[in-house]
Amino acid sequence: MERLQKVIAQAGICSRRKAEALIARGRVRVNGEVITEPGTKVSGSDTIEVNGQRLDKEEKVYYLMNKPKGTICSVSDDKDRKTVLDYLPKDRRIYPVGRLDYDTSGILLLTNDGEFTNRMIHPRYHIPKTYTINLQGMLSPEDVQTLKSGLKTKTETYQPARVRILQKDYTRDRMILELTISEGKNHQVKNMMEALGCEVRRLNRKSFGPLTAEGLKPGEYRRLNPHEVKELL
Ligand code: URA
Repeated sequence: MERLQKVIAQAGICSRRKAEALIARGRVRVNGEVITEPGTKVSGSDTIEVNGQRLDKEEKVYYLMNKPKGTICSVSDDKDRKTVLDYLPKDRRIYPVGRLDYDTSGILLLTNDGEFTNRMIHPRYHIPKTYTINLQGMLSPEDVQTLKSGLKTKTETYQPARVRILQKDYTRDRMILELTISEGKNHQVKNMMEALGCEVRRLNRKSFGPLTAEGLKPGEYRRLNPHEVKELL
């Protein structure tokens, strides 16, 4: 059992002192009944309303996973393929933050915080994501310039990207590069490369904002700490 004002403050609604004031002003209900005594003890099974709004009882959790290729970013799959959720604890309903393709590996965030997800995938917040691309075909210096200044295809316009060429293999007509983009359009990297006449052989998301999947093997995950969550917001 916990004191009512502590539970309200921990839910992130307001400070403990403000919660005491709200309780005293009759703005808090426990199991439908107005409570005006600040020290009232409540348990996890009690339903608490502040200003008519129910407290979200579920703790928010944030996972960082190193997605293995050959997994899908959906809750279920009609082809019965492995989903990223198969790797995570099943005690809460959590969802991937955006999507990586079936054959893409690398950093993926998952959470039960819908507001966080909306922010992470909204283009307005410009979270840079860096991909390592194994490419069949070679980008010319002009192609690189096009990527840097913004690429237009028949159906899409892509914002300027950062490009870093890591390796060139002239004999096999292949290259490895890093591309940093802030959008998250459908199959964006593959479509950008295809528009330049190249095919993505392998795709790995190396970073999401300041975070990487360093130290995690494919399929492994860890909880984000509050500082890391804050840094993304
Ligand atoms: N771009 C793609 O084409 N695929 C991904 O999985 C991510 C970005």
